[in-house]
Amino acid sequence: MDNRELQRKAEVAELLLHAARRLGESIEPERVYERFHELVADVIQHDGVIVSSYDDRDDLIRCEYAWTDGAAIDPTSLPPLPLNREGGGMQSRVIVSGEPEMFNDVPQRVENVDGVYYNVDAEGNLEPIPESGPAKTTAAMMVPVKDEGRVVGVVQLMTDSGTYSEDDLQLFDGLVVQMGAAVRNARLQQERRRLEAAEAAALAVAREREQAVHVLDAVGDGIFLLDAGGVVRLWNRAAALVTGLGSKDVVGRRLAEVVPAWDALAARIPVADEGAMARAVTLPIEFGRRDLWLSFVAVQTSYGVIWAFRDVTNEARLEEEKADFVATVSHELRTPMTAVYGAAQTLLRRESDLTTEQREGLLEMIVTQAARLSEITEEVLLTTRLDRGDLPIEHEPVDVVEVVRSTVAAMRSQVPDDTAIEVEVPEDVGTASGDADRIQQVLVNLIDNAAKYGESPVRVSAERGNGAVRIAVSDAGPGIDAIDRDRIFEKFYRAGPQLTRTAGGTGLGLYISRELARRMGGRLDVASEPGEGATFVVELPSSKG
Ligand code: ADP
Repeated sequence: MDNRELQRKAEVAELLLHAARRLGESIEPERVYERFHELVADVIQHDGVIVSSYDDRDDLIRCEYAWTDGAAIDPTSLPPLPLNREGGGMQSRVIVSGEPEMFNDVPQRVENVDGVYYNVDAEGNLEPIPESGPAKTTAAMMVPVKDEGRVVGVVQLMTDSGTYSEDDLQLFDGLVVQMGAAVRNARLQQERRRLEAAEAAALAVAREREQAVHVLDAVGDGIFLLDAGGVVRLWNRAAALVTGLGSKDVVGRRLAEVVPAWDALAARIPVADEGAMARAVTLPIEFGRRDLWLSFVAVQTSYGVIWAFRDVTNEARLEEEKADFVATVSHELRTPMTAVYGAAQTLLRRESDLTTEQREGLLEMIVTQAARLSEITEEVLLTTRLDRGDLPIEHEPVDVVEVVRSTVAAMRSQVPDDTAIEVEVPEDVGTASGDADRIQQVLVNLIDNAAKYGESPVRVSAERGNGAVRIAVSDAGPGIDAIDRDRIFEKFYRAGPQLTRTAGGTGLGLYISRELARRMGGRLDVASEPGEGATFVVELPSSKG
């Protein structure tokens, strides 16, 4: 090998190295073709370049990049060509043989050898040869592109003037090898990016789903989905919490199977069309052993009907209570008010007809009923303040002997003369923690009740033990039925219709008393056997002082 030859080889090697670097930088296959062409343009004269791919699955040769007469052509404007296995056509020959080839006799070949040939102009117009005249091209080089030994394409370089040499072919072959590698690399990168994007998208969807499930579970509203057959497809956590039915008990089953009243209920709930405003309906429903008031909305979707509900049992009870409260208060106020009104009217209109005794009787009635009115108003106000939590209550040492003594002394003039009040409080019972006025209020109420509903004697006793002081008020009356023992502490509850009629009362006294005891850190309970009297016990924390 002479020096010139050596130098040329070195130059070619350097060129190829440079080409490998430049091509390797491109990450889009289309850019790789353009760079390849720039590199070729620097070293080999040409008037046209065509890069084609060959797919052995359909035996078609497709143009990937084309440039002719100084301009790039849209490769899709060139029709795919079927491979000609018999070797007609220059591209087919190279693909079949897998060897680079050089044709310095193009016009003759085009005329004599089987194959489809075109003249292509810079606008990408195809002119079939030979119909449109002789081929412009005088010489061409064709090099196969290989991937692991398999031919996957062919690159052709054409000139309209002169011929190509063996050196040209070698150089061109070297550049095509680099280009093939770079395209493969770019395609792999592209595929990797596509996979990564697909994976990221799948991950995002999965995350969104997961989030949706979490959100569905986190909302306080019960949500469930029934398909067209009424089968539960989704049952969120709130639905399980409110109804006491877990998703595993209901999902996959017809809801009407699990909740027999469902069909009748569902008929009363309007189902809004998707996107329309849903109207809420509040209905009572029994789940297992729970009686609930649920506010439902329903929306038709393509998956089925989505039902959302909220537990409004407490609100409904509150509403009921409020209605009761107003009704009871108005009722309680009406009786004394009518009495006062009637007595006052009689006094005004017929004063001259009345005896002094009758007048005094009417005035006394006005005084008693007015006192009753203010008593009811007081109790109602106190109840409201307790419910609102704005009743200040002291927590200080209260001398139990003293509070019992003073209360009983005050009550002696309040109870009927034939009601005896016995006190049995040991001197050393000590102090309780609480509010002296409130303890007194509780005791007044208990002694008053004992006198009203029980029978003489009324006993007030106290004892100390287990960190508490217990003050008991008992009577020898009819006692309280078991079913009433809890309920008498409810607002407005009054046991026994005959009692209700005989002694006036609002049914708030025991509610207020129990609440006061609780707010002082204690409790109020009752023990009673029917016929054996009742014993109410106020328990208060004993004071350290
Ligand atoms: P009121 O006295 O205004 O009716 P309370 O809340 O003080 O309201 O009492 C509720 C009900 O409890 C009374 O209506 C009565 O039926 C019953 N009750 C209270 N104390 C006794 C008692 N010592 N013996 C029998 N029944 C009682």
